[in-house]
Amino acid sequence: MNAPTSHTDDFQQLTLALSKGRIFEETLPLLEAAGIRVSEDPEKSRKLIIGTNDPNIRVIIVRASDVPTYVQYGAADFGVAGKDVLQEHGGAGLYQPIDLQIAQCRMSVAVSEGFDYARAVRQGARLRVATKYTEIARNHFASKGVHIDLIKLYGSMELAPLVGLSDAIVDLVSTGNTLRANHLIEVEHIMDISSRLVVNQAALKLKRLRLQPILDAFASVAGA
Ligand code: AMP
Repeated sequence: MNAPTSHTDDFQQLTLALSKGRIFEETLPLLEAAGIRVSEDPEKSRKLIIGTNDPNIRVIIVRASDVPTYVQYGAADFGVAGKDVLQEHGGAGLYQPIDLQIAQCRMSVAVSEGFDYARAVRQGARLRVATKYTEIARNHFASKGVHIDLIKLYGSMELAPLVGLSDAIVDLVSTGNTLRANHLIEVEHIMDISSRLVVNQAALKLKRLRLQPILDAFASVAGA
């Protein structure tokens, strides 16, 4: 029979929330700096809970936009999430100590090649804007005094202006290749995006001894 888990053991256990793809790949060197090596590749194993070389640290694989939610409710003690995701979530219950400077890109407004965006804005036209990032888009256009109708999409935003669903999109741009391939032009840069470490506020207090060396290792690599 297993011995019941003591309260002290709970304070030892750490759960890190990551999303697959770029964030997972670019977090691996940071984990390595903290002496943590994951035991499996989530792309291959399909497992959602992955062990590490430290029996007290595990990684959970969640959708990028769900990372702040898992950390907010304490289902994960800490996680890595893009500034875009954090802005949409609002950041409640999260401590954001470090800009990890990974998964860098920018949030931009883009339109079809033939659309005169500057003129439409000058004339005070009401714009239809398709995006997954409704909070960021709403704040951006409100600060410019531009009236918009927001159309919420969950992916492939680039398609919307091509088929007449919207006048403009708000989306992440990295190389600009996706925009070019679809004859779209970036007309406004809203903000630079990178991924940040987020920590559950209660975990930061209760598990500080366990967390602090990891945060320090992450910070030393991020600043380098
Ligand atoms: P690119 O063609 O390199 O400009 O990449 C643009 C496409 O990749 C768009 O569909 C974006 O939504 C997506 N993308 C770019 N950077 C990121 C990122 N850091 N996180 C998530 N999606 C991204």
